[in-house]
Amino acid sequence: MVIVMNEHATEDQVEKVIAALTQKGYDAHRSTGATRTVIGVVGTSRTPLDPREFEILPGVHEVVKISEPYKLAGRVFRPEDTVIRMGDVAIGGREVVVMAGPCAVESEKQLDIIAASVSRYGARILRGGAFKPRTSPYSFQGLGEEGLKYLRKVADRHRLLVVTEVMDTAQIPLVAGYADILQVGARNMQNFNLLKELGRVRKPVLLKRGMSATIQEWLLSAEYVMAGGNHDVMLCERGIRTFENYTRNTMDISAIPIIKKISHLPILADPSHGTGLRDKVIPMARAAVAAGADGIMVEVHHEPESALSDGPQSIYPEQFAELMTQLRIMAPAIGRTI
Ligand code: PEP
Ligand code: MN
Repeated sequence: MVIVMNEHATEDQVEKVIAALTQKGYDAHRSTGATRTVIGVVGTSRTPLDPREFEILPGVHEVVKISEPYKLAGRVFRPEDTVIRMGDVAIGGREVVVMAGPCAVESEKQLDIIAASVSRYGARILRGGAFKPRTSPYSFQGLGEEGLKYLRKVADRHRLLVVTEVMDTAQIPLVAGYADILQVGARNMQNFNLLKELGRVRKPVLLKRGMSATIQEWLLSAEYVMAGGNHDVMLCERGIRTFENYTRNTMDISAIPIIKKISHLPILADPSHGTGLRDKVIPMARAAVAAGADGIMVEVHHEPESALSDGPQSIYPEQFAELMTQLRIMAPAIGRTI
C-alpha cells in the first residue's frame, strides 16, 4: 500500500500518518518527490490495514494498493527516477555513467595502468574485484584487503570512484571502508542475509542480476536492501543463462526498458559478463545505451592474455577509447550525455 499525500500536506500531517502506521506494526518508508510526499507501507503485522482509515486522515490525497510483490522498488512508490549522487557523479540522471577496470585487482601497477587509461577516456568509476566469486576453488580468489587498498589509492590518484564486490556479511565493514559503491554479484543476488545487512549500510549498492533470476526476483532482491532503509540501489543486467552457448551468457537488453518502466531505480548493463567475448562487448555496450541504460560496466585489461581472471572478455584500453568515442556520438541522439 502507498499513501500519497496532498501537494501542500504539512510535515505534521505526514508524521501523523507515519505514526498511525507504526502503531499498527508496519514500516513506513518516506519518499519526497518534486511535488508531493509518498509513504510506502511495508512489513507484516497482525493488524490488517483498512485503506479507508487512512484516506480520511488530514493531508492524505489517496491510498493506492500495490499489486506487485515489490513495493519500494516500484514506480508507484516513487514516480520520479532515483538519482544516486556521489560527489560530482550522479547515476540515474542524464549522464550515462561508465564504470571500467579489470575483472580482478592483480597488483597496484596493473590497476594503475588500467585506471590511468580508463580515466583519460572518460570513465567515472573504477571497477575491480578484491574478493572474487570464482566457479572453481582453484582459480584466483582475489587479493582481499590488499586489493581494496590499491583500489582506493589508485582511484583517488586518477579521480575515480570505486565499485567492488562484497561477497559476505562479514566483509561489509571492510569493503565499505574502501569502496564508494558495494557490488552484489550475480551469484549472491539471493543471498538474503547479505541483502538485509546492506540495507543498514549508508553506501550505494550495485545489484547484479542473478544468472537465472527473473526480473521480478531481481526487484525483490533490491526490495530487501531498500526495506532495510538503504534506498540507494542500482541494478545491473549482466546476462542470464539460456540454452544458447555461443556466448557465456545471453545479455537481456529488453530488461533495460522493462526495469525503466516498472522501477525508478537506475539500471546499468555489463556487456563483459553479458557476452563473455571481447569482440561482442562494444556492440552490446552500444545496444545497452541505446536501450536506455543509465550506465555501463566494462572489463578492461592492458594485457588480457595474462589476466588472472576473465581475460577473454576484457577489452584493450584502445578498444575502450573507441567505445567512448562511439557512445559520445550516440548519447545526444537519445537525450543523454556521457
Ligand atoms: C564481476 O563483475 O566481477 C562479477 C563477478 O560479475 P557477476 O557477478 O555478474 O558474474
Ligand atoms: Mn569478471
